[in-house]
Amino acid sequence: MQNIVQDISYNVSDSGFYGEFGGAYIPEMLYANVEELRRKYLIIINEPEFQMEFNDLLRDYVGRPSPLYLAKTLSAHFGANIYLKREDLNHTGAHKINNTIGQILLAKRLGKKRIIAETGAGQHGVATATVCALMKLECVVYMGSVDIVRQAPNVARMQMLGATVVPAESGSKTLKDATNEAIRDWINNAETTHYIIGSAIGPHPYPDMVTRFQSIISEEIMWQIQEKTGKKYPDYVVACVGGGSNAAGAFYHFLNNDKVKLILAEAAGKGVNSGHSAATSILGSKGIIHGCMTLLMQTEDGQIIEPYSLSAGLDYPGIGPLHAHLIKTGRAKVYAATDNEAMLSVIDLSRGEGIIPALESAHALAILGEIGLKKQDNVVVCLSGRGDKDLTTYLQYIEKNNIKL
Ligand SMILES: *Cc1c(COP(=O)(O)O)cnc(C)c1O
Repeated sequence: MQNIVQDISYNVSDSGFYGEFGGAYIPEMLYANVEELRRKYLIIINEPEFQMEFNDLLRDYVGRPSPLYLAKTLSAHFGANIYLKREDLNHTGAHKINNTIGQILLAKRLGKKRIIAETGAGQHGVATATVCALMKLECVVYMGSVDIVRQAPNVARMQMLGATVVPAESGSKTLKDATNEAIRDWINNAETTHYIIGSAIGPHPYPDMVTRFQSIISEEIMWQIQEKTGKKYPDYVVACVGGGSNAAGAFYHFLNNDKVKLILAEAAGKGVNSGHSAATSILGSKGIIHGCMTLLMQTEDGQIIEPYSLSAGLDYPGIGPLHAHLIKTGRAKVYAATDNEAMLSVIDLSRGEGIIPALESAHALAILGEIGLKKQDNVVVCLSGRGDKDLTTYLQYIEKNNIKL
């Protein structure tokens, strides 16, 4: 037990902070809603009946536990034992469903009739539309019009599920702009509506709430790694980071065990210094975005710098406050992968293991060569989603860049 770090807390404080990051910076109109959520969320999610319904749905509806798979070709390539945490096998194709199930159960208990959400890659929109169909609640999803084009299959899925998809036309017409529209809707409909935020971002208690719902990932990794290796914990946990929910969930039960190295993979886009990047931890500085104090890409006078990544799910100018804190304290290390590096990892995993990953997840694979792995290391990579939604992007990229398969 001497490995447990005692001096720095990586869990949220009562006032909603992770060190200097977090908090709830919200307009007056949302205060009552967010305050109600803050007062009730832990009470509700710790009720035995809630836990039972949540766990039953995760098992029978989502298909959990998701497997932990020893990827032999990848392991040989990187010279370490690479285990993939297969969130890509979840119902709807990514980790997002863990959180939307938790939040819809919470929304029902709060008596809400209407659900709104923002989405980038469309995975969170699909996961939200899915649980709204399941629970028969009205669903409105905001999505940047650029993302509507590059993630068309997910738009069709949301429509099939009965959701209304509303295009966001401002700014770069991507995730940040969709989030702005969703917040505007919420302000106008605060009493009837629950906003299901899809990542470990937003005002307190969202980052902690989303992290807890996603922590099923590390809860499973703990017993699965023991089953597979006889060791109590992995040497590394690696995850891509947009807002930070799959990483937060994969890290959660290891946060206070400093024997487990925590690695984040950001989207460098066309290169960290190219002016077309979403590498928030490198390019960002402290500021407020979408209700919390965190690291974000901004100009000197506080204007948000438009992020860029080929991957819609990582194309966000901020990072969750937990991750800002993990990076600031040195608990987690960040590496950045370019579009091109991520694409090459997509091809390697498809050809080498027969698994077509989401472009987001491929960023976590693309940085494995940089972290200094040793032969006996057990490395868990969170494979956050599957690549079906990205197939058009993949084929176009391969053709345009003359990549030989
Ligand atoms: C949404 C998404 C991400 C990025 O979101 P996080 O909150 O950082 O996890 C990563 N991978 C996939 C497959 C996604 O759908």
